[in-house]
Amino acid sequence: MDSDAVRARMVHKLSAMGIVSAPVLRAMGQVERHRFVDTALVNQAYEDTSLPIGLGQTISKPNVVARMGELLLDSALGKAGQLGRVLEIGTGCGYQAAVLAVLAREVYSIERLRGLHDKARANLRHFRLPNVHLLFGDGMLGYAKGAPYAGIIAAAGGDAIPQAWLDQLAVGGRLVAPMVTSGGKQALVVVDKTAQGLKHQLLEAVHFVPLKSGIA
Ligand code: SAH
Repeated sequence: MDSDAVRARMVHKLSAMGIVSAPVLRAMGQVERHRFVDTALVNQAYEDTSLPIGLGQTISKPNVVARMGELLLDSALGKAGQLGRVLEIGTGCGYQAAVLAVLAREVYSIERLRGLHDKARANLRHFRLPNVHLLFGDGMLGYAKGAPYAGIIAAAGGDAIPQAWLDQLAVGGRLVAPMVTSGGKQALVVVDKTAQGLKHQLLEAVHFVPLKSGIA
């Protein structure tokens, strides 16, 4: 597939939808999303839609991946345009991890489903990204060994933000995650860790798969 032109079109749409961060647009233009979906879905890979990746899970929409990346870079530690260590909860097919690999020095990405952890490893092999570390485990516990993180990003939403994520965030760092709010709907939550404490913001409605505990 000659995907450069289709990807450029996707990037153009993302900026029309309000994504302004140059590093994020560059990353979205660089990572070949069609390599992360099944052959039958390749011609939908650059549409702004979530797609099935197996085991009942989905790859997030390009616009959502870009939006979350932009929010991470908009933090105190991200202002310079590159992040230090980032933790992703919910590797899925590995697409967002590949995008984050452009935006951060080191990416730790954790997945609770063995089948998807293996799939992400296979998908990412082509890209040879030495700064992406795939982990199999329960991301609700975070990954203490890589902490503190300049950014934490979750691709699955629960009823609350696990304490481990807040503990593992660096001062100046930012967490971006979907969470079920009081109305029973999911919204994007941003938490900044400052020297004075945690600052929460509730943003737009989103639709992510549920955050589950344990491994399978
Ligand atoms: N970022 C992914 C999106 C995958 S969907 C991509 O680009 O493809 C979200 C993923 O979160 C699913 O694969 C699901 O299995 C995983 N997940 C849900 N709860 C989890 C947990 N506690 N720890 C790790 N992964 C989890």
